Amino acid sequence: MSDARELSGWTHVYSGKVRDLYVPATTPDDDDDWTGDPLRRSRVVLVVASDRVSAFDRVLEPAIPGKGAVLTKLTRWWLDQLPEVPNHLAYAEDDRLAGLPDVPAGVVERAMLCRTLDMFPIECVVRGYLAGGGWKEYQATGAIGGIPLPEGLSNGDRLPEPVYTPAWKAPLGEHDENISYERTIELVGETVAEQLRALSLDIFTHASEVAESRGVILADTKFEFGADRDTGIVTLADEVLTSDSSRYWDAEAYLTGATPELRMASFDKQIVRDWLAANWDQDEVEEPPTLPHEIVERTAERYRALFERLTLGL
Ligand code: ATP
Ligand code: MG
Repeated sequence: MSDARELSGWTHVYSGKVRDLYVPATTPDDDDDWTGDPLRRSRVVLVVASDRVSAFDRVLEPAIPGKGAVLTKLTRWWLDQLPEVPNHLAYAEDDRLAGLPDVPAGVVERAMLCRTLDMFPIECVVRGYLAGGGWKEYQATGAIGGIPLPEGLSNGDRLPEPVYTPAWKAPLGEHDENISYERTIELVGETVAEQLRALSLDIFTHASEVAESRGVILADTKFEFGADRDTGIVTLADEVLTSDSSRYWDAEAYLTGATPELRMASFDKQIVRDWLAANWDQDEVEEPPTLPHEIVERTAERYRALFERLTLGL
């Protein structure tokens, strides 16, 4: 049986929980004696979003049909809304694209041809509302990411202003770890750390306004950045403002909902998280259970609905 991740003309170099990365199968002659990481060896990388879904850092079964295509469309759409932010997409005029193999038709909807960046090991999380891990931390400490917050906030409440709560990007299979801003300075230096924070907060603020104008609340999100290898410019990479990397809620339900669950009517994988939390005791059972058909369908529908809301308006 052939590997499902095989792509004609491309060499598979890495798989995360959701994305598969490829480099061109043919390498330049002057790289012949290069023995390092194949991803670093290539100046372009094909980032292919699969339909895989992960929650609690585990990849679940089965996949969500159409999810990879929606994530890719959302990322491209958001990058179009952010023309001032340098991003990793390789554009037609880029001479690095000369002589590259075609992107196979079977993955073209899910694929982005990108410049290979030197990724920073930081997940740049921004939260505009209290939810998930942020809500847990607030309940325990009254603060998030070390930033003190007003007393008496409830699950789902809007924060006085968006907060930057970075995490250290753990190697595959390990859990990411929340870190302080000072720790990010130790990891990437003060200049880059400051740029990551400022860019993340700026993009979040702008994206929140765009989403709100379409009746959608952007509650929180996570960005990844890397350094452009030619210029060193801090560049936005990976997926951008997707329903995998963000929490999105329906603005009307938020205003009228009587319970936290109804307020946070989500366009993301909260359905999967909630079902797993109710049906899987992680301490007792090693493997997560298979998602029921109904959960898979509802999640697929929510992902499509977000894209339609954002891009077609209400
Ligand atoms: P992990 O990276 O720990 O596997 P993940 O499960 O979120 O986390 P995916 O999102 O599935 O990973 O895989 C995408 C990988 O590709 C990430 O490691 C991301 O940092 C990396 N990546 C994204 N864009 C680029 C780029 N332009 N250059 C180099 N690496 C990139
Ligand atoms: Mg990722």
